[in-house]
Amino acid sequence: LTENNAKHIWHPMAHPAEMKRNPPHVIMKGRGAYVTDLEGREVLDAVGGLWNVNLGYSCDPVKQAIAAQLDALPYYSGFRGTSTGPSIELAWELAQWFAPEGMTRALFTSGGSDSVETALRLARQYWKIRGQGDRTKFIALKKGYHGTHFGGASVNGNANFRRNYEPLLPGVFHIPAPYAYRNPFDETDPERLARLCVRALEDEIAFQGPDTIAAFIMEPVLGAGGVIVPPDSFLPLVREVCDRHEILLIADEVVTAFGRTGAWAGARLTGVKPDMMTIAKAVTSGYFPLGATMIGGRMAEVFEADRSSFGAIGHGYTYSGHPVGCAAGLAALAETKRLRLDENAAARGAELAAVLEDLKARHPLVGDVRCRGLMAALELVSDRDSKAPADKAVMTKVADTAYAAGAMLRVSGPNVILSPPLIVTAEEIRAIGAAIDAGLSAVA
Ligand code: PMP
Repeated sequence: LTENNAKHIWHPMAHPAEMKRNPPHVIMKGRGAYVTDLEGREVLDAVGGLWNVNLGYSCDPVKQAIAAQLDALPYYSGFRGTSTGPSIELAWELAQWFAPEGMTRALFTSGGSDSVETALRLARQYWKIRGQGDRTKFIALKKGYHGTHFGGASVNGNANFRRNYEPLLPGVFHIPAPYAYRNPFDETDPERLARLCVRALEDEIAFQGPDTIAAFIMEPVLGAGGVIVPPDSFLPLVREVCDRHEILLIADEVVTAFGRTGAWAGARLTGVKPDMMTIAKAVTSGYFPLGATMIGGRMAEVFEADRSSFGAIGHGYTYSGHPVGCAAGLAALAETKRLRLDENAAARGAELAAVLEDLKARHPLVGDVRCRGLMAALELVSDRDSKAPADKAVMTKVADTAYAAGAMLRVSGPNVILSPPLIVTAEEIRAIGAAIDAGLSAVA
C-alpha cells in the first residue's frame, strides 16, 4: 500500500519524492475520536477528518441509516425534477435547522466546492432575473477559502490556491480580513480592526460601483486561511453595508455550520441573516459526500416568482440529493442535536483555548493563538518580534512529533490547525495539548 500510495495517488499536497522519504499516514480504521494507521498505531484525530467528522468514527445510527438506505434505494437522481424520500426529509430538516438564518430551500450538491459554485451562479442569476444583469462582480476576504472550482478559486483569498490557475473569474475583488495578528492597518484591537475592514469594503464598493456587484462572500469564521475569528461586530456591519447597497451576502458555512463554532451556524453567533448559505462537510459528519446551497428570503421569493428561472437554474449534479447521503445527513443531524454537540464544542473549545494559551506562554515559537468553539489555530513564528513565519521543516517536525505522541495535527503554512470531532472529551483535549507540547519541545 505504501508503495502504490506514492506511485498511483496524486496527492494534492505532497510530492512523491517527499512521500518516499517521509511516507504519509495510511489510515485504516476509526473509532470514536481516534484513527488507526497501517502500522496499527492509534492516534487522536485532532483534525476531525477535515473539519467534518463531528460525530467521530463509530456513530452507529449514521452507519445503520446508510445501510438501510443502500438496501431500499442506493441512488436516484435529484436533479431531473425527481426526488427521493430522504432528500425531501433532509431539505425539511435543513429549513428547520437554518430557520433563524431565514433559509427555506436547499439546492443539493456533492460537497463544499459545488455549494460555493452554485451560490456564485445563483447570485448572478438573481440579478439577471431582477433586470440588473450588470451586477456580476464578487467581493471576498483575503485569507478566505471557498473551495477548488473556478468560481471558488476566484473568490479564494490565498495566492497559493490561485496562482497556477489564472486567469480566474474576472471581476472579483478582495478586502483585508479582520486578522489582528497581521493586517495592513497594523491594528491589533479587534473591534477597531473590524471597522477598518468594513471601511475597506465600502471603499471597494464605491470604487467598483455598487450596481456592478452581485455578492459578498465570507466564512463567519475563516477556516483554512488559519482560523481567523472576526469579532461578533463584523458580520452585522458587513450585513448593514450589503443592505445599503443591495449586495447579496453569502455565508460560506461549509466548516462553521452544525456546531463547530459552538453554535448551530456560524452566522448565528451574530444573529445575521445571510441571503445564501453554503454547507457540506459535517451535514453527514463525513460519512457520505453531500452539500447544499441554501436560499431564503428575498432570493427565494424572486426565484419562485420567476417561472422560467426557477425550473431552469440549469445547474445541478448527478449526485444532487443522493438518497444515501441524505439518509446519512438525517441520521447525523439527529445525533448532532441529541448529543448537543454545539454545547460540547463551546465547552471543550474553551478548554482547548486555555491549553493553547498555556502552550503560547511556554513556547516562544507560538506567535498567536486563535480559537472559536472547536476551530483553533496556533500560528508558529521563528521570531516573535519580527513575526517571521516558522519554516516548513519546523512545521513538519512539530506534526511528526505530535503524531508519535498520539495526535494527528494539520499544518498549513505556519499554522497548526485543530478541528477535533465535536464528541471530544475534556481528557482528549488535554491529550491533544500534550501531543502539541511534545511537538513544540522537539523544535525548541
Ligand atoms: N468552503 C469552505 C469554507 C471550506 O473550508 C471548504 C473545504 N475545506 C470548501 C468550501 C470546499 O469544500 P469541499 O472540499 O467539500 O469541496
